[in-house]
Amino acid sequence: MLEKIGRGELSIIESDAVLPSSSATHLPKSFHSPVRAAAIPSDSQPNLRPPAIQASAMPQHIHIHTPPSVSPNLDQPIEDDDDIKFSISDISLPRLIMTAVCAAVIIGSLLYIADRIISITTGVITGQESIEDIITPITGDIVAGYTVSDEYGIRPFHPVTGEPNVPHNGVDLAAPVGTPIYAVGKAGDKTTVKCWWDEDGGGWVVNQTAESYPGYVFQSLHMSENGCKEGESAAGEVIAYSGNSGLGTGEHYDFRVKINGEYVPPATKYLESAITGQPLKE
Ligand SMILES: [Zn+2]
Repeated sequence: MLEKIGRGELSIIESDAVLPSSSATHLPKSFHSPVRAAAIPSDSQPNLRPPAIQASAMPQHIHIHTPPSVSPNLDQPIEDDDDIKFSISDISLPRLIMTAVCAAVIIGSLLYIADRIISITTGVITGQESIEDIITPITGDIVAGYTVSDEYGIRPFHPVTGEPNVPHNGVDLAAPVGTPIYAVGKAGDKTTVKCWWDEDGGGWVVNQTAESYPGYVFQSLHMSENGCKEGESAAGEVIAYSGNSGLGTGEHYDFRVKINGEYVPPATKYLESAITGQPLKE
């Protein structure tokens, strides 16, 4: 009987029940050629027995039917088939989800980077300044005749609540209640003004925008309830009056600048324009 040893290796065992002895002697002859043995598909002998029952009477030369150099060539395609089947069946739902999540994170990161590049490019086109170029006043400076009582930045402790390390998003001027505040912008700019109450301590707040500064919001906090001129104005017009509303240690004027929704250190030139009404030149 034909015996399969490993993959593609054929041998003969003694069996007079299945094959006649003439077959047993005939088959080894035809398998002497390694080429011939390699050409026989391993699955063409599906009912062959394992090598454990190989007969001791088998001739020695039968063992070299498939030279070692041929065996890897026979084995390789079979192993590859096994690998492919395993890979396809191994794609489980959790693995698919993980792949999708990783892809989403990578795509999200790329979109974020693209968005930042577009923002920076747009900023350059519209004349927006970089934060590094902003000249902002510090505590003790004099701006338009008023002393800066608190600068922009992180405060070690909030002056009212005592909370540590809180950001101060504006520049405070020691200005008395009733100081007129002007629309910020270049000469001839149309500006918009919005007056609103800030529940978080800002009191009466005035937001203003100007044609020449797209993406900018100039903000005044702790304003007087009365005198806010909501709606359209022109740069240099009085739009509101400072006050002492909201959470604070006393009367002062708090000026802030947002660019594209983010607080930035307020440039001195904008604060001067807000407190004097002088139009901006650049
Ligand atoms: Zn302040």
